[in-house]
Amino acid sequence: MKIAAYETRADELGYFKEMAESLKIEIVHINEILCEQNADKAEGCLGVTVLGHSIVSAEVLDRLKELGVVCLSTRTIGYNHIDTEYAQKIGIRVSNSNYEPSGVADFTMMLMLMSIRHYKQALFRGNINDYSINGLQGRELKNLTVGVLGSGKIGSTVIDYLKGFGSRVLVYDAYPNEQVRQKAQYVDLETIYQECDIITLHTPLLSDTYHMINRESICKMKDGVVLINCARGELMDVEAVIEGIETQKIGAVGLDVIENEEGIYHQNLSTEIVSNRQMAYLRQFPNVTMTQHIAFYTDAAVRSMVASGVSGLIDFITTGACKYEVRY
Ligand code: NAD
Repeated sequence: MKIAAYETRADELGYFKEMAESLKIEIVHINEILCEQNADKAEGCLGVTVLGHSIVSAEVLDRLKELGVVCLSTRTIGYNHIDTEYAQKIGIRVSNSNYEPSGVADFTMMLMLMSIRHYKQALFRGNINDYSINGLQGRELKNLTVGVLGSGKIGSTVIDYLKGFGSRVLVYDAYPNEQVRQKAQYVDLETIYQECDIITLHTPLLSDTYHMINRESICKMKDGVVLINCARGELMDVEAVIEGIETQKIGAVGLDVIENEEGIYHQNLSTEIVSNRQMAYLRQFPNVTMTQHIAFYTDAAVRSMVASGVSGLIDFITTGACKYEVRY
């Protein structure tokens, strides 16, 4: 049996080799982002696995279908880069990745702590032998109320961590779950905005979560609110966030993701012209900490991403069912 892996990174190759040997399958590696022009490279493969940079549109899905591909897996948790509705319509089964939420939850806590302890400014000052401490007075998590938007795997782990720090935690989810209700208080969005010192985003990107952080919602938040986004850039209207920082309504921002990061993050563009003004402008604020979409990027997570990406396809092909199937 043969499957195709697009966007293979060097650090994934060892794990792919392990999977190919243990499952006795052939994996064709295509070190490119899947698109209409290179979909033919999957010829002869029953399944295709991608990472998050491949925009799997209806046209790409049609081409894969013509080639005999029956299933597609994304080695990421987010699957907003795949037209899942169309895939379902033409009978291509889709699965997403499954890895422990702890890596992203750890990273979320790091961005929170960096934001409330002014780490970026402290680091910059140290680099030029400026060891002054004015303006660097921080706040303690145990004295703060933190709002967690989205109480799935990552949000729920962040709640556990915050409890360990002694924070008061308020949670909002469109679909509250009983396990989380045992450990934290679900409230409506208005209460989150009114009462939280820090708001951290852990919802998927969907039509109803697109720009959920916008001018109107920021206006309702506490003065000096700290916003953390380790989910998807498009959950925030960047212009509204910039305005919030300029007016000092927002106290600090920690972003592992940003709107329109595609084609920029995970590339070395140090000698290129990068045309994303919002990203450059945000980065220069002393109270904005940005990373290049690496919250997921740990040894344990990469191993699981490859394993679930490959086994998802093999399950579809051999049993017709996969526990990580994404349905529209
Ligand atoms: P999950 O599916 O376990 O949880 C998502 C939660 O959001 C669920 O509880 C769901 O009920 C809730 N939700 C859905 N629609 C909502 C809405 N309209 N309003 C409020 N809540 C809503 O997903 P997860 O594993 O916790 O991951 C969350 C997101 O984090 C992913 O969708 C992905 O985009 C992002 N992510 C980012 C990275 C990174 O490296 N930065 C890594 C992994 C995941």
